[in-house]
Amino acid sequence: MEVINTIDQIKIIRQNYGNKTIGFVPTMGALHEGHLSLIQQARQENDIVIVSIFVNPTQFLEGEDLEKYPKKEQADIKICQLAGVDYLFMPTKDTIYTDDEIKVLAPNIRGYILEGYNRPSHFDGVLTIVLKLFGLIQPTNAYFGKKDAQQLSLIQQMVDNLFLPINIKAINTKRDSKGLALSSRNAYLTPKDKEKALLISKSLNLALKMVAQNELDVELIKQKMYTILDPIEVEYIAIVNYEFKYIEKVEIKNSIVLVAAKVGSTRLIDNMWM
Ligand code: AMP
Repeated sequence: MEVINTIDQIKIIRQNYGNKTIGFVPTMGALHEGHLSLIQQARQENDIVIVSIFVNPTQFLEGEDLEKYPKKEQADIKICQLAGVDYLFMPTKDTIYTDDEIKVLAPNIRGYILEGYNRPSHFDGVLTIVLKLFGLIQPTNAYFGKKDAQQLSLIQQMVDNLFLPINIKAINTKRDSKGLALSSRNAYLTPKDKEKALLISKSLNLALKMVAQNELDVELIKQKMYTILDPIEVEYIAIVNYEFKYIEKVEIKNSIVLVAAKVGSTRLIDNMWM
């Protein structure tokens, strides 16, 4: 595996692609089993696998955790090596951004509900960095987690709207043995917080169970979920269809139930697809 830091190095690698298929996994590092499942899928489906690690400042809002975002550079390099990654791209901020730049704007509705409502302009930053990396790497396939469902849906929309010749691959959420969705931000949780955080997946599982029992009323499902989540600070519970439009009745195989909540001072998101 080669670790790359400059744009020129990536450009040279790209010139030598030939007809090979390129699988790309963008991340912010502090890699865990969730990231690894994206990388493994990319490894299975492509000739060359490129992973990027870049804590993208433009997707953090004022007062968020940009400065203290977990960093595990050496461990990340090892994980990528062992997973059979060909190139690990780790640029600095100044490699990626100049002072006055063109930005991608998230769409008015899908980009500004839920995560976009609570973190306005977050998705502008996400889409901008993803488009930059797509332009640079020009992957055949790009891998994203369903854990960040709204991000995934916006990236798919960007690819559709801008006619980008890239396949977006959606990968299932990895959880720990108790059901907590893996996240780099779990590093902020104390053992007590972790116990409380389990209420999130518990509430999502309850939603799935209700739907399995043919209870499709969104308001009723949300009410029951709020009861479970009472001990923690819920930011939102929502049920949307795969296009991220609010629905009143769950549509089987076309609905996502999402939760954002604060445990201690850590903001967590999770969802399940049904
Ligand atoms: P991040 O480093 O948090 O920006 O995540 C990089 C990619 O990994 C994104 O596409 C995430 O959706 C995905 N990801 C994060 N956590 C998980 C997880 N627990 N399971 C699967 N994919 C994940």
